Amino acid sequence: MKMKLAEIARVVGAQCPYSDADSPTITGVAFDTRQLKPGDLFVPLAGERDGHEFIGAAKAKGAAATFVATDHEPIETALPQLVVPSPLTALQQLAQYYLLMKVNPKVVAITGSNGKTTTKDMTAAVLATQYHVVKTPENFNNEIGVPVTILGMDTNTEVLVVEMGMDRPGQLHAMSTLAEPDVAVITMIGEAHIEFFKTRDKIADAKLEITDGLKEDGLFIYNGDEPLLTERAKNVDQGQKTFGLGPENSLFARDIESFEDHTDFSLSRWPDLKFTIPIMGEYNVTNALAAILVGRRFHVKPETIQRALAHFQVTKNRTEWLTGDAGESILSDVYNANPTAMKAVITDFAEFPTTGRRIVVLGDMLELGDLAGDLHASVAEAIDPAKIAEVYLYGTQITSLQAALAAKMPADRVHYFATPHQADLIDALQQDISYQDMVLLKASHGLHLENVVKALVEGS
Ligand code: ATP
Ligand code: MG
Repeated sequence: MKMKLAEIARVVGAQCPYSDADSPTITGVAFDTRQLKPGDLFVPLAGERDGHEFIGAAKAKGAAATFVATDHEPIETALPQLVVPSPLTALQQLAQYYLLMKVNPKVVAITGSNGKTTTKDMTAAVLATQYHVVKTPENFNNEIGVPVTILGMDTNTEVLVVEMGMDRPGQLHAMSTLAEPDVAVITMIGEAHIEFFKTRDKIADAKLEITDGLKEDGLFIYNGDEPLLTERAKNVDQGQKTFGLGPENSLFARDIESFEDHTDFSLSRWPDLKFTIPIMGEYNVTNALAAILVGRRFHVKPETIQRALAHFQVTKNRTEWLTGDAGESILSDVYNANPTAMKAVITDFAEFPTTGRRIVVLGDMLELGDLAGDLHASVAEAIDPAKIAEVYLYGTQITSLQAALAAKMPADRVHYFATPHQADLIDALQQDISYQDMVLLKASHGLHLENVVKALVEGS
């Protein structure tokens, strides 16, 4: 980005000490001085500490100017200041102006309880075969990350693929009306943040806000296997396409074959094309379907889409294969967990061939509120005792899964360890696991199963 400070001042409604002619040029924005580059406009935001405390550091790193909040006491600095009611709102106003007036790319906005980042990466890979694409870096998907992503675009960007996350109603409305997408995607509705929302219906309502800013001639692409979405889509006026596994969808997958490091499938259209994605998980096929529909909207040929998907780079795959100290295969998925994702990964894991046993180590899923008991118990549906030999449970809420498993599995194959006795869990696993086994570990990050993974890998 490249803009005169005087122009930025007009956009955010601030007084500017410079005229257009003598105004410094701003070449980027930063809200974290560790990431600030010379020429950036510093945006002080409220975090653990007040961002205004870092204005001195911003100047030292070469910032060209800073926002200052109206209600903050006057700041002594040689840095040019734009005083605004809210630096965050000013950042968003600036992003909207830059997007519409300076770059004006097509915008693809992606939300969903799970699969946003994966779908974003797949979609960007598909569109990059034909367009100059900018995508959300990493997982930068909130009310700060979206404007920062926008302001990070170069002016010749043709398509912006932007991930939008939310944990409260109104957030997607704000992001969608800021970005005015040409295509809005909802990957799926799960239970993330159900502690706050109470019901999946309310989660679906909030996700639908991604269509609030959808252009009149825009396209709404959503998971048609989810009745909560098909119901609500009736109230969306724009064009629509659905994807999923069910045959009533605009595009559906068939002949899905799961492997440890890739997944193969065919489509309801172009039956001669065999698709493969370089990641495990049947759920990733539905993410790919969304990316394929977006690619088609932008006239990318099916064969080109197929090639792009076969090699796309995942931002950071949180599901990782490792080899344990005993020689066992470990599937580590310990950075987040919710019931839908947990069931999905267990179902896939149960199909992977092994000469030994399949062992699952599951920990509590946090932030499920009043429904925690039922939702932990519901994971039992995904555990087939003919395919999963041993189940290790760790936490407090997971006891409801232990109770649910009692109906379908002998008690001596279900091992429960209460928090915080992780050392006992590690001991038990180390005594049980042999080199031919395959072990899946999954829990919310708060349970710190990464320590268990580390112990199994290092043999300590
Ligand atoms: P976050 O909210 O943290 O940004 P995200 O929505 O971006 O998450 P990803 O990073 O793409 O999601 O995937 C995270 C995990 O969610 C995966 O490792 C997998 O366990 C699960 N997951 C991904 N896609 C789906 C899907 N379509 N259905 C169910 N679970 C999924
Ligand atoms: Mg993400």
